[in-house]
Parts: sequence; structure tokens; C-alpha cells
Amino acid sequence: MASEYETVVGIEVHAELLTESKVFCGCPTRFGAAPNTQTCPICLGMPGVLPVLNKRALEFTIRTALALNCQVAEFSKFDRKNYFYPDLPKNYQISQYDLPIGRNGYLDIDVDGEQKRIRIRRVHLEEETGKSLHAGEDIIAATHSLVDFNRAGIPLMEIVSEADMRSADEARAYLNKLRSVLLAIGVSDCKMEEGSMRCEANVSVRPVGASEFGTQTELKNIASFRAVHRAIEFEAARQIALLKSGEHVTRETRHWDDERGETVRMRGKEEAHDYRYFPEPDLVPLEIGREWVESIRESMPELPDARRGRYVRELGIPEYDAGLIADSPAMTRFFEEAVGLGGDAREIAKWMLGELSAALNASGGDFESCPVRPSHLVETLSLIKTGRISGKIAKSVLEDIFGTGRSPEEIVRERGLVQISDEAQLVAVVDKVIAANPGPVSDFRGGKEKALTFLVGQVMKETRGRANPEATNRILRERLAEGTGR
Ligand SMILES: [Zn+2]
Repeated sequence: MASEYETVVGIEVHAELLTESKVFCGCPTRFGAAPNTQTCPICLGMPGVLPVLNKRALEFTIRTALALNCQVAEFSKFDRKNYFYPDLPKNYQISQYDLPIGRNGYLDIDVDGEQKRIRIRRVHLEEETGKSLHAGEDIIAATHSLVDFNRAGIPLMEIVSEADMRSADEARAYLNKLRSVLLAIGVSDCKMEEGSMRCEANVSVRPVGASEFGTQTELKNIASFRAVHRAIEFEAARQIALLKSGEHVTRETRHWDDERGETVRMRGKEEAHDYRYFPEPDLVPLEIGREWVESIRESMPELPDARRGRYVRELGIPEYDAGLIADSPAMTRFFEEAVGLGGDAREIAKWMLGELSAALNASGGDFESCPVRPSHLVETLSLIKTGRISGKIAKSVLEDIFGTGRSPEEIVRERGLVQISDEAQLVAVVDKVIAANPGPVSDFRGGKEKALTFLVGQVMKETRGRANPEATNRILRERLAEGTGR
């Protein structure tokens, strides 16, 4: 039984910072440029060059440390992490070892409506490595390898959690929350598909109630949040099966194979590198002034948790819905723009999370590129409010905007969708429907309330959905009651 064991997860996230230039030189950091076009002697690791710290990268790291409730070091430094790898031309990476910029923070997550605090051990700044490209099917079959140094030297932040997560669900919630915070403070674009956000999970299992951690394995090459969830579930089950058959878990690094849906041993910890860290002699130690830190704190934008609270408190949005909007910068921008245009916040949230989200999911788009703009939605909602169209027609109007980008007013006018609220017009249709459906009419008169729904449906059919539903209901009841004696 899986329930005899508990899963323990800690997560390391690497996020590339959204600076214009690299961390120790002036090269640009754009993604997708032709190989080796964004390089200079510094990021190519030529001898005799001196790195110069990009202040913006340091500011972004401090901003992140503050958003994650960390203590920001007053004194910090950079260290050389020595290892040989083809995509690391200097044979060392400038990183931070014993004095990270941020430490002892936390991030609150929600899982199944319950809040949990995940401690953050450290946040530090380092440089990205280059990227190896293997010519051929895979690394084994490749005839040769190529290296692109465009990525080398892009500022990279490492965020390490304590092993506080107890399930794959909690790990996924942590990553989602972390991403929404990094996006909100604008320090990274967090695109896992472009590698600007990457994660590794340390997974172990232990008998429920045990206080000591079991032997952990380190999972690498996880390319999506969905894969994180699958990888952790697989790995925990694998470890539990080992323990139950009397074997033990080996401390090792494992690769997640998403196609096969399993983790595969990469290397044992005994083969792990000894990085021989030592202080980077070419960079001066960092003294991080408290005034600067406070000014960064003051300039911080609203974080997702605070935003959610405000939506619930001030706009009356249900907690869960408020969280969905607040966690996504694109949805937040859309929502706030629509509310700013004078729309009803609750209706806007409802339609965003309902119709619009469904259409975007189907088309693979997001709120940033949504053909229905906030002004379109607000205009459509006001057409409902003033009774010119019904909610049902509104759905078809939004579909039309989604495909054509036309304005709601134009669509309603051209397609003749204006709701029929005119009494005489509705009475005529209602009478026609009553005359054509003697069966349901006598059912209703015999006390079957449900028959009314059928008759309302017939009126809608006759008017192609344009009949005002409230008026239709009322007139139907009146006409059916009048006819009781007949
Ligand atoms: Zn450079």
C-alpha cells in the first residue's frame, strides 16, 4: 500500500533572468538568435578578460529574494565552481557558494483548498552555460557535437526549497506558485519550453511517522510541470517497491524519460563532481546596501497572493476564481483592463473563466493574444445587461468575435440577433407555440411544471434564440392560465 509510505520532495529551480544583457558582459540575451552571434571574449571565456557584474541581474535576484520572503545578505560574493564540460569554455562557472543573495524564505501554496508553507533555503545568482548540440539522432549516435555560446553568461537564478513537499501535487503547486511570483515581479519569462525555467526534484520516501529522511535520488531533465508530477509519482512508487522487496534505494542522479514515462539512472553520487569552489578573484565582494534593498522592496508590484485577496475582498470574486486570475499576469491584465472600462467584475471573471478560457484552450491561445479584447467583453456584457441580447446569444457573439474580431454591436446588428422583448411580438409567437403543442399544453395544465421548459424551448426555436427568456416565461404562464377554462 502506498499509504504506508510518505513521499518527501525538495525542488531546485533555475530561472534565466529577463535582463537585456548578460550577467558579466554586455552581450544581448535574446532567445533564438543564430548560434554564436551573441558572444564576446568575456562570455567565450578568453584568457585575460575581466567580468563586470550587471547591476540589473543583482537587483532582479534581490527582488526575487524579497518576493520569496528571504533575508537578503548584506555581504555576498561570487565563487568559481570548477568543472570541465564542453559548453563551459572557462572550465568553471561563476556561481555563489556559501553566501547566497537570499536565504531562509518561504512560499505559501494551496493544495485541495489547504494552505501549506514551503521553506526556501536559498536564492543565488550565477551564469548560464553554453548549449551543446549533437549532430544526429541522439548523443550516442551523434558523429560530432557543436556548441552555441549565445546562452553562456545569461544571468541565471537558482532557487532551492527545503524538502517540505509531501506529494507530487504539492510539488506541482509549488512550481506553479513560484512561476506566478516570478512572472508577477517581471524577473523571468519562465518558459519551460525554451529552457528559461528548469527544475530538478530530490525525491525520497519513508515510512509514515518516521522522522528521518530516506535515501534520495535527484531527478533531472524535467521539461514541464506535467512531467514533474509524473516523474515524482513514478520515482516514489519505484522507491517504495524497492524498499518493500527488501532492497535499498541508491543515492544517484536519474534522468526523466518523458516518452517512456520512467526515470533512468544517469550516474551515482560517488561519481559526482568535486567542484572545488573558491572565491572568484576577478569580482569584488558585494556589499548590498539596506537603502537599496528597501527601495527595491518599495517598488515591488503586487504579488499574486495579495492580488487574490484584493479581488475577493473588494470585487466579490470567489476565492478559487480570484486565484486563477491573480496567478496569471495575462489574465490579470485582461481582467483589470475590463474592470477599468466599467464592467461588472464578477460577470467579467465568470465569462473569462468560462467561455473565453474554453475557446482559448481549444485554440491553444492565451489571454495575451485573445482575439476578444477586454473592450469586446465589456460591450457584450452591457448588451446583456440592457436586455438587447440574451446570455445564450452572447455566447454566439463571443464566438463570432473570436473568429472575426468584429465588434459585438456590429455582429448583433448584422446577424439580426437583437433580443425580442416586444410584448405583442412575443405574444404572437407564444400563441402559435401553444396552438401547435396541445400535448405539452395539457400536461402543464394538468400540473406538470416541466412541460413549461419544453414550451419555452419551442419559443426560443421559433425566434432563433432571440426571445427574452424572462418575458417568454411570464407570457407563457399568463396565456396558459387564461386558457385554463377552454
Ligand atoms: Zn559576452
